[in-house]
Amino acid sequence: MADTQVTFADLGLSDEVVSAVVTSGYTKPTPIQEKAIPYVLMGRDVLGCAQTGTGKTASFTLPMIDILSAGRAKARMPRSLIIAPTRELAAQVSENFVKYGQNTRLSMALLIGGVSMGDQEAKLDRGVDVLIATPGRLLDHFERGRILLTDVKILVIDEADRMLDMGFIPDVERIVSLLPTIRQTLFFSATMAPEIKRLADKFLMNPKEVSVDAPASAAENVAQHLVRCSVKDKRDALRSLLKSETVDSALIFCNRKRDIGVLHRSLQRYGIEAVQLHGDMSQPARTETLAKFKAGEARLVICSDVAARGIDIKGLSHVFNFDVPSHAEDYVHRIGRTGRAGLSGRAFTLATPEDSKLLSAVERLIGMKIPVIQLDGAAPAAAESRPAETVELASETNPPRKTGRGRGARSNDNAVAADEQSAPPPAKSSRRSSRKRGEHSEKPAVAVEPAVVAEVQEAKPRETSLTGGGVVEAFPTQRAGSGNGRGRGGRDREDNGRSVTGFGDEVPAFLLKAVPKKATG
Ligand code: AMP
Repeated sequence: MADTQVTFADLGLSDEVVSAVVTSGYTKPTPIQEKAIPYVLMGRDVLGCAQTGTGKTASFTLPMIDILSAGRAKARMPRSLIIAPTRELAAQVSENFVKYGQNTRLSMALLIGGVSMGDQEAKLDRGVDVLIATPGRLLDHFERGRILLTDVKILVIDEADRMLDMGFIPDVERIVSLLPTIRQTLFFSATMAPEIKRLADKFLMNPKEVSVDAPASAAENVAQHLVRCSVKDKRDALRSLLKSETVDSALIFCNRKRDIGVLHRSLQRYGIEAVQLHGDMSQPARTETLAKFKAGEARLVICSDVAARGIDIKGLSHVFNFDVPSHAEDYVHRIGRTGRAGLSGRAFTLATPEDSKLLSAVERLIGMKIPVIQLDGAAPAAAESRPAETVELASETNPPRKTGRGRGARSNDNAVAADEQSAPPPAKSSRRSSRKRGEHSEKPAVAVEPAVVAEVQEAKPRETSLTGGGVVEAFPTQRAGSGNGRGRGGRDREDNGRSVTGFGDEVPAFLLKAVPKKATG
């Protein structure tokens, strides 16, 4: 954090709040806190451009506690509202209020999905000073007539760029339309894309702009590395990194949810324990996984962007991008999970030749080339300079394959099959053997049971969102409209817009091939 002589007390915070901050172990404000807190205390609107990891949550919670400590909440009429894109982020904000508000008597309610509506309603009925919510659940309570937003004096929109990304902006606009026009608004976003700026202009009145780090700049204390490999060698490369690095705790990001399960099983086969975190999991399961990880009971989490967004994990040593993110900004968020609160961190990105466009987008955004590293014995950038089939990472941790099928005979998209062949015991050998030898053309070639095709062709949502009283599956609009199973911005890019076969969590990924309708009979 910044070397500043300014203290929390200098910022104008009350003794109660300062003492709670000091009890939390923080001695100096971070730059965003130093810049934002005085304006928030003045009652100004603030447009904050800051990533998570900069201490931005406290930059609004601390002054809010002081502002709200004068006054009382009325039943069902919260005095302040914080909207966050994910349940985890909302929960983290509420933890901040508990921690920093320990010397005050503010009441708070957290409205997120996956938690009983009844308990939330009971809290609302008693009256809350601080309401923290995800957009869907908040509107749900509103529509049931359980809440009135006309007494909200302070609105915080946290992680606005993520709201945009997750398709929540219409909900946010609706929520803001239900609030009094005279209010204080604090708007935070890691990036200031034109669409975000448009929203800020709409929601804020004469805001003070505070910014730390250039927008979308990657955290400085994260050492970034790029590992070039072919698709089929990604798992080898990851295991090799897990072995060679001193990994205390790490997030491993995959672009697609189904790959999380595949990678999880693959690591397990090699005796590497990991847990999964993604938007399809129930809220209790997500919370439990996160708690385990935060408590140090799990060392590795394989996760999707939505589940891991903004998550604050103390001392996370590593971030692995098993996939180059489809959205360049996600790279900044992912690696920003490590190197937090002044600690250093390490980030590794596995890039295949097919990822070149995505990688360029990331490098353009962060304004630098990610330094390429070579895994022991592997040629640097080998995947680009040689046919993918011939690239071997020397760090193979398991006995040589004895399948009679040379690695060269495998196509890129049977990487998991290859992975499983080398790991005892081979799981789906009967299915694998049904595949013809040497099939590695781009053409759809796999015939599987029609029922299976139907299961996967039924487009799965990219992530869940909250509305209508529970967790429902949300499709980004473009995806729903297109009907081709592709997510916004080509997140499901490997599907190539074609139908894809698979067995859900049970199938090796090499069967995940495009199948023409005829081939399934
Ligand atoms: P945030 O950006 O709000 O997600 O915060 C990132 C991390 O920084 C959290 O673990 C906070 O507890 C921590 N933090 C917040 N304020 C400070 C501070 N003034 N000094 C050191 N760490 C802080």
